[in-house]
Amino acid sequence: MGRLPFIAGNWKMNKTVGEALDLARQMKTSLAKVDSVEVAVAPPFTALFAVGNELKGSRIVLAAQNLFWEEKGAFTGEISPAMLKEIGCGYVIIGHSERRQYFGETDETVNRRIKAAFKHGLKVIFCIGETLQEREEGKTFSVVERQMEGGLKGLKTEEARPMVLAYEPVWAIGTGKTATPEQAEEVHRFIRNKLGGLYSREIAGEIRIQYGGSVTPENIKGLMTQEDIDGALVGGASLQAETFSKIVRFREI
Ligand code: PEP
Repeated sequence: MGRLPFIAGNWKMNKTVGEALDLARQMKTSLAKVDSVEVAVAPPFTALFAVGNELKGSRIVLAAQNLFWEEKGAFTGEISPAMLKEIGCGYVIIGHSERRQYFGETDETVNRRIKAAFKHGLKVIFCIGETLQEREEGKTFSVVERQMEGGLKGLKTEEARPMVLAYEPVWAIGTGKTATPEQAEEVHRFIRNKLGGLYSREIAGEIRIQYGGSVTPENIKGLMTQEDIDGALVGGASLQAETFSKIVRFREI
């Protein structure tokens, strides 16, 4: 069976609760008839509960942008997996490059977060990708490999099965510079082969790999024609219902 395309919107640190509700309502309407693509949105923590309620009865899945691995306790400012599960999150984004770049996220902390998410039944969107300097130095594959080995360390096959990977070249995020479909496919194929080595060919064939980095209605179709690109993690273009819906409905473009 083929892999169901999966498009997720990462709203990052945007939208008050009121604005988030407006956007969620618009998306619910414009995506009401979409059934051959899985769709998720990741509002900021403050809007998760309200957006989750608004999306009830729709096919749009609620996602969080991060979590902390401890169950509870004296961890000021952090959010636990159980808190996200309780309010209906289905997915959590882990290891986004902005967290690695600005908040000291490492392969080891990514690994702890991934394990905590699986323990609580949250599916993970695990982000990996190289910087411009790493690409120019010819290190793209070794960086992605290191991130995968570190992030997935100790993860059993059954835990890995529901996971989604997001290949997000850092130089393409929020810059308007998208990887060409061929550039992206080359890395996606590498990631799938690596998953085959870490787990099995069967699991590697099931796991969806999203592309992220300045995805727009204009470039989504070309990306989605590639064999190993199974969807997109969308930042800027997910902040407006119209552009996000066009991306989700890429087949109609
Ligand atoms: C992202 O934040 O994951 C992302 C891909 O952002 P943008 O689409 O704005 O490049």
